[in-house]
Amino acid sequence: MKKIIYNNLEYNELNSSLQELKIERYRTNQIFEGIHHLLYNDFEMFTNLSKKMKKMLEEEGKFKKIELVKKFVSKVDETTKYLFKLEDGALIETVLMGYHDRNTICISSQVGCKMGCKFCASTKAGYERNLEVSELLEQIYYVSRTEDIRINNVVLMGIGEPLDNYDNVIKFIKIITDERGYNMSIRNITLSTCGLAKEIDRLSQEDLPINLTISLHNPFDFERSAIMPINNRYKIDEVFKSAKKYFESTGRRVSFEYTLIKDVNDSDRHIDEIVKLFNHENFHLNLIPLNAIDEFGKPSTNSNELEIFKQKLVKRGINATIRKSMGIDIDGACGQLRSGHKKEMRK
Ligand code: SAH
Repeated sequence: MKKIIYNNLEYNELNSSLQELKIERYRTNQIFEGIHHLLYNDFEMFTNLSKKMKKMLEEEGKFKKIELVKKFVSKVDETTKYLFKLEDGALIETVLMGYHDRNTICISSQVGCKMGCKFCASTKAGYERNLEVSELLEQIYYVSRTEDIRINNVVLMGIGEPLDNYDNVIKFIKIITDERGYNMSIRNITLSTCGLAKEIDRLSQEDLPINLTISLHNPFDFERSAIMPINNRYKIDEVFKSAKKYFESTGRRVSFEYTLIKDVNDSDRHIDEIVKLFNHENFHLNLIPLNAIDEFGKPSTNSNELEIFKQKLVKRGINATIRKSMGIDIDGACGQLRSGHKKEMRK
């Protein structure tokens, strides 16, 4: 019989599995709370279960774990980056950012990525697989447990395209917000997508009003397609329609991310088109300096020009801000640690 992975399960699924093992119903609460509130990932840790029951549970199933390979602590700000190894040897990364007693964690959703954005390091080594629910959760629980902190915000902005791992990501959100578990506020979860319009529509129907941010990077279809292959599947118009729908059905303001690449997407022509696209909608625009990677070969717009770009947008009524880069000295952004580590291992 297939073994149960206890930390992959929502409350109801855990309940059914335990019922099949003829365990009393009230135990579900104890075990769910143990896993998702007390952050146990071993039956050894449960003080409220008998030896006999622990033995049976261990025979029938297991916990999926992740292992720390390396931890990088920034010297310039409160950013820590974790390189984790999964049970099959796959590598992912997680970034913790502290700011005014608020802890934000940026987690990965896949091993690698198949979206192929030209400027992004996470996609260069290709796609291996989706992360399981337990592997999404453990990134948060591992950090929470070992640093002895509560994580206040989660952003799904690490390696991978979260909406390409739709079912597991939804289940993850349901578990992390479960009152019997970690009880995170749904408003403190943000998902970043390269613009899978169909999945955004699906998400808007889930009754899970998380914050949504969409990677735009260029307001012209022809130019966006050149740096983001996903634009061949979902054109900008379609993505904006889905964004509008998302806002209407969830009441959550939608953001767009815009990475500035020198002489590629930072001209007045681009500003004009962004203004047209936003069309007085209550969207937010997050401007981000490009984190230049060798494979792409293009530099970022410099910080002066970035500021001017922002000012021009603001004058035209766009709600634009510049995102502060965190953990610059530890490659805090975008898949560089994992690819760097792989290169090192190949040597
Ligand atoms: N797949 C999702 C989430 C992961 S990427 C998405 O595309 O949104 C998180 C954000 O970082 C995206 O906006 C992405 O376009 C951006 N990004 C990727 N590589 C970057 C780089 N080299 N410099 C700056 N931002 C980058």
